[in-house]
Amino acid sequence: MKVSVIGSGPNGLAAAVVMARAGHDVTVYEGSDKAGGGLRTDDFTEFGGRFDVCSAVHPMALASTFFRAFDLGSRIPFVQSDISFAHALPGRAAVAYQDLERTSSELGRTGPAWSAIMKPLLHQIDAVRAMSGLDLRPHPSTVAGALALGVAAMGFSALRDEARALAAGVVAHGAAPFSSIAARFVGAVLAAEGHAAGWPIPVGGSGAIAHALVQDIEAHGGRVELGRAVDDLREVWSPGDTAMFDTGPRGFADIASNALPARYESALRSYRYGNAASKVDFVLSGPIPWTDERLRDALTVHLGGWEREVSGAERTALRGSVPARPYVLLSQPTRRDRTRLPPGSTDEIVWAYAHVPNGSTEDAAERIIDRIESFAPGFRDVIVHRESRPAPFFAQLNPNFHGGDILGGRVDVPQLLTRPTKSVRSWRTPIPGVYLCSAATPPGAGVHGMGGWHAARLALARVGQGVPDLRPVARVD
Ligand SMILES: Cc1cc2nc3c(=O)[nH]c(=O)nc-3n(C[C@H](O)[C@H](O)[C@H](O)COP(=O)(O)OP(=O)(O)OC[C@H]3O[C@@H](n4cnc5c(N)ncnc54)[C@H](O)[C@@H]3O)c2cc1C
Repeated sequence: MKVSVIGSGPNGLAAAVVMARAGHDVTVYEGSDKAGGGLRTDDFTEFGGRFDVCSAVHPMALASTFFRAFDLGSRIPFVQSDISFAHALPGRAAVAYQDLERTSSELGRTGPAWSAIMKPLLHQIDAVRAMSGLDLRPHPSTVAGALALGVAAMGFSALRDEARALAAGVVAHGAAPFSSIAARFVGAVLAAEGHAAGWPIPVGGSGAIAHALVQDIEAHGGRVELGRAVDDLREVWSPGDTAMFDTGPRGFADIASNALPARYESALRSYRYGNAASKVDFVLSGPIPWTDERLRDALTVHLGGWEREVSGAERTALRGSVPARPYVLLSQPTRRDRTRLPPGSTDEIVWAYAHVPNGSTEDAAERIIDRIESFAPGFRDVIVHRESRPAPFFAQLNPNFHGGDILGGRVDVPQLLTRPTKSVRSWRTPIPGVYLCSAATPPGAGVHGMGGWHAARLALARVGQGVPDLRPVARVD
């Protein structure tokens, strides 16, 4: 069967891997000059060193159903710290170690409540993973996973002080305040992975994940064509073929407009987007001088103060203003991965972004720097070089990041499970053999490959095939 995959983000590449492994004739068409979509590591133009343009930290890369089947962990090296994620607070921090007991003990009196929420999630981590990846094949544990996540999401309300701030930091990954049920669901999954597989980073940067996927596609007869933006369905698909779109709903509506029923097209066009990201990449002369020294060793730090402040900042962005004191997501990969720097360099590379309103053209770099400075006095003094990437940069880089929304769509209850349209098989479109698989389909944003996996599973079922073995082919020396 001829299979076209449009877009080479992690979901498109996952779909292509599965289809090529199943013996089909696969071509991936990618509009940009590099494969990977949100998996992209570039060189700084003026300084030695590499930075992740988009995705940096990968809680699902060792945990999602697709990546476990693909055995990503055996193909490329990952590193992580004992700390999965941390939350900077005035004069101190709340720290989530992979070790739950240590986390609870360092959270002091707020620790037992954190533990009480995390323990049931960890006891049922397979069910939680199945549920979070929406791997809804009949399995009794899926119900258990859904229940455990629901209870955890509700349980966040009972957290106080440090533990509540720690939770607010993961919930805000969904670009929403603490009260958002959908974002709490996301936060509960991320926190549970923090204590299960951890929050690893790939050695060399996120581009290494794209490289491993492309290598596998090519090893199984597939092709990746770069600089090939697809504008019309007829360029890549005829009746009887299969096409899988790793594109946003509006992008797909433009491409397939001639072939789509009006009602479905109108549902795609009314898909809603959320907050955007304004990012800044730094080269520093040394580590960030955090007030709480434990943060030196954390690969991921959330900055935003107490829960009320984090929620206020997210609400402000959703209401259309850039928060004066934004919630910031920060990664310091070179604390563990020195391959991203020239040999002998003592510099550090830091990646940080804040949530701003969708479509905002404002560069939040100064606000981000002020935020870091407030938890790490002296930060400005170690900045050697910085490059701003406000929301329009992301919108231009990748049409899926509509208005700079890096999550591929607003995270709220209606759009959590039935994105982009109200259907339990959202990956299917009304055109036979044509599928959507981007982050605008369940389970949503992040590097997990599950949108691609689900779309490929449906495409294979249509021709009576099951999902093939995806493990690395053993080398015979
Ligand atoms: C700044 C930033 C930080 C992030 N941090 C993290 C993180 O730390 N961890 C994490 O898990 N996730 C993170 N993400 C989110 C993650 O990158 C995305 O959720 C993920 O990449 C979505 O994957 P996807 O396969 O849906 O598509 P994308 O990665 O969006 O890729 C889609 C691809 O399709 C191509 N395309 C679109 N339309 C066409 C067309 N018509 N023809 C041809 N090609 C087309 C695009 O050029 C793009 O390459 C981050 C994203 C950004 C931008």
